[in-house]
This record gives sequence, C-alpha cells and structure tokens, in this order.
Amino acid sequence: MLPATGALKPGELQTPLHIAPLRAVSPSHFTSLQTCALKEVWAGNGNSPLLPPSPAAHLGSIVHKLLEEAGQGKFATTGAAGIAERWCELLAATEDRLQQRWLDRHLIPLQSSVPQFEVRRLQACKAAGVLNDRRKEHEGSGATVDPAYGFELPLESSDGLIRGRIDAILPSPEGPILQDYKSGAIFEIAGSDELVLKNEYADQLKIYGALYHERTGVWPHRLEVLPVSTAPYEVSFTPAECEELAHAARAAVAKVNDLIATCNGHELEASLANPSPSACCYCPYRPACHAYSSATQPAIGSWPADASGEFRELRLLGNGKRLLLLSSGEAQLAIRGLSSDPQRHPALSFLQEGDEVGAYSLKPAGPGSFAEGPLSVIYRQAKT
Ligand code: SF4
Repeated sequence: MLPATGALKPGELQTPLHIAPLRAVSPSHFTSLQTCALKEVWAGNGNSPLLPPSPAAHLGSIVHKLLEEAGQGKFATTGAAGIAERWCELLAATEDRLQQRWLDRHLIPLQSSVPQFEVRRLQACKAAGVLNDRRKEHEGSGATVDPAYGFELPLESSDGLIRGRIDAILPSPEGPILQDYKSGAIFEIAGSDELVLKNEYADQLKIYGALYHERTGVWPHRLEVLPVSTAPYEVSFTPAECEELAHAARAAVAKVNDLIATCNGHELEASLANPSPSACCYCPYRPACHAYSSATQPAIGSWPADASGEFRELRLLGNGKRLLLLSSGEAQLAIRGLSSDPQRHPALSFLQEGDEVGAYSLKPAGPGSFAEGPLSVIYRQAKT
C-alpha cells in the first residue's frame, strides 16, 4: 500500500494517513517519539506534511547538507569557492522543489522569507570551511581507522531498532570524540539567564555514544555539539545514562509497534497520540489528527491558532484581501486578510456552504477573529 499523501488535491484533506510499524528510530527522533508517537509514526511512514515548515527549517536543511558534504570531503580541492557555489546550487534546488508544492511556494525566495538569511549563509559557509579544513587535517594525520573514525558515519544498534548517522568521530590522545553539527535553536535559558543545551540534543549524542560503544567496545572520550555560529559545546555523560537512553529508545519502538499490531483506526491513533500545545504547535499533521482536534478548541491558551467550522461565506474586501466566515456551533469565526491569489489557498475556489473547513497556523486577532499568517493553510475536510 502506498503512503497516503494527505492532500492529493490542493486544499482538500484526505484521511486517514498511512500507519505501519516503525523499522527503527534515529537518535535525533527519539525525543519526538516520546513526545508524540503518532506524529513520528505518520512521518516515518512517508505521509507528506499537511502544513508547511517554517522557511528557516528549509534553510536549516540546506545548511545541514552543506556541512554533511564538507564532512564527506567534497570541498577538499575547491575550498571556499566550491562551498559558496554549492550553497547556491542547494538553494536553487530547494526553491525549485518548493515551487512544486502549493503549501510552500509562497515562501520563496527564501532570501526574503528567512530572517537574517545573509548572516545564516555566511555562518554556514564558514562552518563548512572549518569542517573542510579539519577533514583534510584528519586525513593528513593518518589517524583514519575506519569504521571507528571519520565523518558522516552510520551507527546502528545490533537489533537494528536504533539507526542514525553521526557527523564526525575524531581521534584524540584521550579517546574518540563524537561530534554532531546543529544549525537551529538548540539552546534554552535555564534559571539564572544561563544558556544550556536542550535536553533532546544532549540525549541524541548520548545515544550515539551507546551505539559507538556497542560497535567498538570503546566509550567516547567526549561528546560535542558543534553549533554553526558558536564554539563547540561539550555534553557530559556517564556510560550508564547512555545505555539507559539507548534502552529507552529500543523500548519506545517496541511499544509503538505492539500498539500498531493490536489496535487500528481511531483507537490506534488515540493510543499513539499525546496532544499538548508544545508538541502540536510544530506538528505538520494537525489537520488529520483527531486527538488534537478533540483536545482543544480553536486558539484557546497556548494551543495553536487554528479554527474549524462550517463554511458560510467568502467576501472580497476593498483592499483586495478576502474574508472567510465559518460557523462553529453557536459561534461565528472570521478569518481576515486572506490572499486573493488562487494558488495560495486553493480550497477557497471550491468551498460550498455547509462544507467543513479547517484553517491552520492563523494569527489570533480577538475572540472568534483571526488573520492570515505566513504559514496559514486552509483545507476542506471531511465532516466529523
Ligand atoms: S497534532 Fe499533536 S497529537 Fe496529533 S500527531 Fe501531531 S503532535 Fe501528535
């Protein structure tokens, strides 16, 4: 069975999404699996996102690819010029891909939609240059003892339930150093205005530490996160906590697959789902998630600013924008400032009175009132 795409016709939501057992979890997805298994299962089964990620996330993918290629030695002869050229190629390829997707095409050019685009580009190219130099140094040192040292190395648990790719494993006199490159917001403020690494990133590295030990019989000397824009950050660890996290990751996959083997339909989705404002806020599957829609009413508290109801009216306003009116029980919902570009909100071209409508990632504008935001999406969806 092919994975469901969720939205075969632009603006029309098609459910249910495809669910099948997980083959493995990567260290970078372990926290997310614990937070909401349904989201990870939907993502792991190839269901296309139903909401667009932020344009900064697309840029983050470009940065990661550039660093990955630097780690693989692709710029060994071309240096900074090759890195700059590759950045342009990756950006062009990403924008070509986004142009094909009705959910994302309004976000291009990324140079306009991503804050501090130029700063991020310069930081990424510089980080790739540093990595390129270190790769050359590493090769020149004769210390390569594959598969234990190197760049972009796959690591997998013996049972195959945890699989990932670590950015770099480098030798040092005290022992191996495992490094993971990060381009996003990986720090948070702790109690007294101190910046600390978010737990999920520390846990990823600790799981990699356990996988490395399982494969080589040696514990890493250091675990390091390398942010694109700041100095390396050391993650302290003990072998026991690394093994505990790896055990928890295996157990999480087994538990999810047990549920998938024994339940189905809405019962299965409800068992896997764990709705919360912080988890659902960044989830691209909200339009298809019954657990989410049952857990919240639109725009209450810190839940995402989404609205759903029956289509009543669509008005063209004097400023060229459109106003969408929905009814939800006794309440009237108004969504203002909607683009008139038919490609931006395809559903507005075919909605009819009585259709069930879901509008996502809006900007709250008062009780029962919303406005279009840069990531807003509107779907005609099945009546519940
Ligand atoms: S919307 Fe929330 S509950 Fe539903 S899959 Fe996403 S994170 Fe999980």
